[in-house]
Amino acid sequence: MNNLYIETRDPLFGIIVFFALIFVITFFSYWWGRYKAKDDSKYLDNFMKDLSTISSDGDIKNIICGANVSNRSWLILAQSYIQQGEYDKAIEIYQSILEVEKNTQQQQNIAILLGTAYFKAGFLERSKAIFLKVLKHAPRTPNALYALLLVYDRLKEYKKALDVLEPLQELDEAISHEKRYLECAYLLQQHLSQEEKTQKLLTIYTQSNSLAYLVFEYLFQTDAALAWSHLKPADFARVSDILWHLPHEKLDMETLSAHTYLRELFTAKGTFELANSSTIFELDILIKLQHSRQQGACLQFEYLCQQCKHIFPFSFQRCPNCHCIDSVMPEMLLTKDSFEENYTF
Ligand SMILES: [Zn+2]
Repeated sequence: MNNLYIETRDPLFGIIVFFALIFVITFFSYWWGRYKAKDDSKYLDNFMKDLSTISSDGDIKNIICGANVSNRSWLILAQSYIQQGEYDKAIEIYQSILEVEKNTQQQQNIAILLGTAYFKAGFLERSKAIFLKVLKHAPRTPNALYALLLVYDRLKEYKKALDVLEPLQELDEAISHEKRYLECAYLLQQHLSQEEKTQKLLTIYTQSNSLAYLVFEYLFQTDAALAWSHLKPADFARVSDILWHLPHEKLDMETLSAHTYLRELFTAKGTFELANSSTIFELDILIKLQHSRQQGACLQFEYLCQQCKHIFPFSFQRCPNCHCIDSVMPEMLLTKDSFEENYTF
């Protein structure tokens, strides 16, 4: 009878215990995995069930307060509403989470998200009030400071935007580009003489080699001769739409004749005959049409942000998508003549 039992000091006993342990651990891991999968599935079902009960003017707040769904899930949902342009729903979610959230840091983060949603929805004053409130409690919050700067910029309150740069600088944020742009924008807003404005703008342009679109949009309106004398050839393409729309009396024949790009641009427009072809496809087509005395096509412009690559039908100083400054680049677009007639009424 004793032979049926294995003594505890027998090596075989150790092997059996070892495999028994492996079996128990494997079984437990399998059971735990099944349990978690079932739990996650139940959680997802509840979340989807809650979502399906949101009506078009749904009361998201009641669902958030009553449902067993984490704030993180609601934040992901709010973000997807933002991406779809449904800002009202995202705002309602952020507001409701703020009412139930106890953690101060989280409250601050969600308040910034709420302010940003208001900003995107166009409620600039509400957005400003939220960021100011966040900064009152946490003045050294770069996200909130930068968001407030964008609000002031959109509101054209450039002096206040410049004031926001000071705390950002103290936080070692790179502000030189923003500062240059805001100084130019503020300069144009001030009641100074035209001469003073143009001189200061030209100083910023020549020293920084930036902000060509902003500077020459103003300069070609006020003093075309001065603009021609300072515009660098490297920036011709950057302001091509401004040049294209210049009236005949603002053209400078000497500068036009001296540069291939300008000769091609104004030959394509039909103002002069200074080029036979162009390496730029759109200009080449228009030049050939001009030479054959044919009509039927004209040039329109759309505006590319060189930073985020989004294209807009209008020019901008700050990209509406990524908020980058000085990233605008006019892109030529060949269209039918009839389109221009309709478009330009
Ligand atoms: Zn952009």
